[in-house]
Amino acid sequence: MTTENEAAAEPRSAAPSRDEAVLEVRDLRMRYGTVDVLKGVDFTAHRGEVLVLLGPNGAGKTTTIEILEGFRMRSAGEVGVLGVDPAHGDERWRARLGVVLQSWRDHAKWKVRELLAHMAGYYRPYSTPDRTRPRDVGELIDAVGLAEHADKRIGSLSGGQRRRLDVAIGIVGRPELLFLDEPTAGFDPEARRDFHDLVHRLADQDDTTILLTTHDLDEAEKLADRILILAGGRIVADGSAEQLAKQVESDAEVRWSRGGERYVHSTADATRFVRELFAQHGEDVADLEVRRATLEDTYMAMVHRHEHGGAGAVTEFEEAKR
Ligand code: ADP
Repeated sequence: MTTENEAAAEPRSAAPSRDEAVLEVRDLRMRYGTVDVLKGVDFTAHRGEVLVLLGPNGAGKTTTIEILEGFRMRSAGEVGVLGVDPAHGDERWRARLGVVLQSWRDHAKWKVRELLAHMAGYYRPYSTPDRTRPRDVGELIDAVGLAEHADKRIGSLSGGQRRRLDVAIGIVGRPELLFLDEPTAGFDPEARRDFHDLVHRLADQDDTTILLTTHDLDEAEKLADRILILAGGRIVADGSAEQLAKQVESDAEVRWSRGGERYVHSTADATRFVRELFAQHGEDVADLEVRRATLEDTYMAMVHRHEHGGAGAVTEFEEAKR
C-alpha cells in the first residue's frame, strides 16, 4: 500500500540507510594568518538528520560550512562530504549539494520564476534514475511560500522574501545534503513556521541531511535532531537539546511573592527549597514559579566554559539576538 507521504517522497532504487554518514569531519583546523579559528572540529552527520550549528559570532560557523561546501581550503584535518573530499569535489558531486550563494542577488531584474527555472536547468544533466533532479519550479515556489511573488522582479522582494528564495535555490536541485547559513534571518513568525515545516518535510520525506546555523535557540530546539555548539575552535557540545541540558548542571530559579514583595532564588534542589519556603511562610507565599534550565541557559554555560574570554563572546550573542 502506498500512503500519501510515500507517494510524495522520492522514488529510490534502494532504500537509503539512515546510518550512512553523509558528513564526516575529523580534526578540522583552519588558520587565518596567525589566528587559529578552528582548532580540531569533529562531528558526523547521518542521512536525514537535521543538525543545527550554534556558536557566538566569529566562532567559525561560516568558515566550517564553506569548507564543507568546497569553497574554502582547510588548513588541516579530514573531511568527507557524501564520501568525497570537498577540496577535490567535481560538478557531479556539487550537484548533490544544496548550497546558497549570494551572487544570485545580482540578478535584480530577473523574475523569481525565471531565476529558479534557470537554476533548475543547471541540475538537469545530473538527473539519475533514483533521484530525479531538479524539482518542478511551480511546486517549489509553492513550497517556499512565494506563489504570490513568482512574477515579481528579484530587486523588488522584501528581505524575508529573498530568504525564501535563498531556500528555494538551495533545494531546487533536490540535494542529498543542504547547507543553510542563517536561513530565517528576517522572517516573520508565519514564514518561520512554514520554513520549519519545510525542513521537517525535507528530512522526513526526502531523507535530506541538513546543516544550518541560526541565532534563534528556540528555532534550534524545534528543528534540530542534534545541536552542535562551536566555541573556542571546537565542538563543545553535540546532542539533542535534552542531552545538552543534562551536561550542564545548572540551577533552577524559584520566584514567588510575599507581602507585596517579589523574590528570586537560584538553587540546585528546587523541591527542597520550595518545601522549606512553605514550611517557613506557609500561606503568605503567592505567585510561585520554578524555572528550569532552558537551551539558552545551557548554551550560555557551554560557551562560557569553553570560550577564551567567554563573557565577550556571550555579549556578542546577546547583541545578535536583539
Ligand atoms: P561565524 O560564522 O561563526 O560568525 P566566521 O567563520 O565568519 O564565524 O569567522 C570566524 C573568524 O574568522 C572571525 O574572526 C573572522 O573575522 C575570521 N575570518 C573569516 N574569514 C576570514 C578571511 N577570509 N580572512 C581572515 N579572517 C577571516
